[in-house]
Amino acid sequence: MKNTIESVASRAKTPFKNAPFTDFSKEENRKAQMEALEQVKGELGRIYPLVIGGKKITNETTFASVNPSQPEQVIGYFSRATVEQANEAVAAASEAFENWKRVPAEERAGYLFAAADLMRQRRFHFNAWMIYEVGKSWAEADGDTAEAIDFMEYYAREMMRLTDDQPLTHIEGEDNKLVYIPLGVGAVIPPWNFPCAIMVGMTSAAFVTGNTVVLKPASTSPAIAAQFMSILEEVGLPAGVVNLLTGSGSTIGDALIENLQVRFIAFTGSRDVGLRINELAAKPRKGQRWLKRTILEMGGKDAVVVDETADLDAAAAGIVASAFGFQGQKCSAGSRAIVVDKVYDQVLQKVTEMTKQLSMGDVTKPETLIGPVVDENAMKKITEYIEIGRGEGRVMAGGGHHGPGYFIEPTVIADVDPHARIAQEEIFGPVLAVIRAKDFDDAMHIANDTEYGLTGALYSKDPQRIERAKEEYHVGNLYFNRKCTGALVGVHPFGGFNMSGTDSKAGGRDYLLLFTQAKAISTKK
Ligand code: NDP
Repeated sequence: MKNTIESVASRAKTPFKNAPFTDFSKEENRKAQMEALEQVKGELGRIYPLVIGGKKITNETTFASVNPSQPEQVIGYFSRATVEQANEAVAAASEAFENWKRVPAEERAGYLFAAADLMRQRRFHFNAWMIYEVGKSWAEADGDTAEAIDFMEYYAREMMRLTDDQPLTHIEGEDNKLVYIPLGVGAVIPPWNFPCAIMVGMTSAAFVTGNTVVLKPASTSPAIAAQFMSILEEVGLPAGVVNLLTGSGSTIGDALIENLQVRFIAFTGSRDVGLRINELAAKPRKGQRWLKRTILEMGGKDAVVVDETADLDAAAAGIVASAFGFQGQKCSAGSRAIVVDKVYDQVLQKVTEMTKQLSMGDVTKPETLIGPVVDENAMKKITEYIEIGRGEGRVMAGGGHHGPGYFIEPTVIADVDPHARIAQEEIFGPVLAVIRAKDFDDAMHIANDTEYGLTGALYSKDPQRIERAKEEYHVGNLYFNRKCTGALVGVHPFGGFNMSGTDSKAGGRDYLLLFTQAKAISTKK
């Protein structure tokens, strides 16, 4: 490991700063990204093993991860883990926990700093893997890598903060102390849409706090998890602290969650899978000695509200960016625009025009903003929703799809009833429902009238309405006069209400506590 305990302690004292986004208008950055794309292209199609207790195991049965822009291009072949291997991975993590929990916090944080340094060096490569594996545009991929670096830098510092003396009320005759200790083995189950940031964030939070991990990446983005595993190996993270288990969630998920040695599950993904995990984890099994903790971040049906006082150009730009960034495949995506009657037609026209200008196509080119959706299933589901939407409103832009990749045109559907299916169900694709509200009160009501509560934005210049929205807009991440996507680590701790999950606030000061338990120690003098 490159960092000494002293250097970790002093680095942890430096204030956290977000990694800046790469400026691709600079020739040297464009060149570096092009070169990384070429280099990664030469690495596509390799076979990747499971990593269990530091051993690399390649199964005969594999599955392919493919490029959604050109599905015939294989990103890599990944071993399909069996239920037995899921249990072996938990056993390996359980064994590693006995030593790892005693490793000083500085040393654990040091691995994160070292991993962040390596990822910074390989930033363009990580971007390239995401451009190929999930169809991110350059800027979206770069934001994802930056967020992963931020999570590691932030959680390393947070771990050191939790290791400090915790403030307690003093009483005479006793020494009192409160320490945060790890939970045990965690199953970490991330989604594919932030295949680097969320995967790295959940995994690093789990192990920097002294837990050990079985990481089961999403089956559409395992190559990025494999790249991260290489980094962890290079920085010398002990074997078994993070185990990589690729394979179908529906085959090995239950085994992981039900395993008696699994103490907690950190999941980010869809509502339905999250609810299932919650239910399975809640049921104690013979021999189980603890309540399994679940940290669940799930879907959204997020809204951008616009009132008649707003800067309408800014509002339209915010609606379009929120709805169509990474093809609308963000939990924070603004899939509903709720516009008051007085300015509805104007905003709709602006949004429609801006949407028609978005460039869709080859994401290996820097100028492309919109790429494909992640796979064939997503394409089918989204096109079905567009068909439903044709019956629920007026298609103003998009509506079509193109092959051979999974390209769906950014689609704007106007005059949608607030209770229509496309206004209530998470589509997770480039489909925006535009809803007319009578007035601001009505708009607020519509915004809150879904089962989710993740992000929301309001464009308004009225200070009283802004104050009201601060109280009434029931979402975990609320934004004024800006888009509802793009949360930054440390700046906008992220997590949602209601069916959007357990509001874990990733990238915030409360997050690491979810991966620990507090022990109060009292000594009579
Ligand atoms: P899924 O729920 O389909 O999958 C998420 C993860 O769960 C994958 O690793 C998947 O594996 C795994 N999984 C699937 N079935 C099971 C099971 N039965 N038991 C255990 N694990 C299982 O979500 P997506 O990957 O499609 O991600 C998109 C969803 O994530 C959207 O709903 C989005 O809103 C949400 N999301 C929420 C965020 C938040 O912070 N609130 C942030 C980002 C996304 P496999 O791939 O093998 O099926």
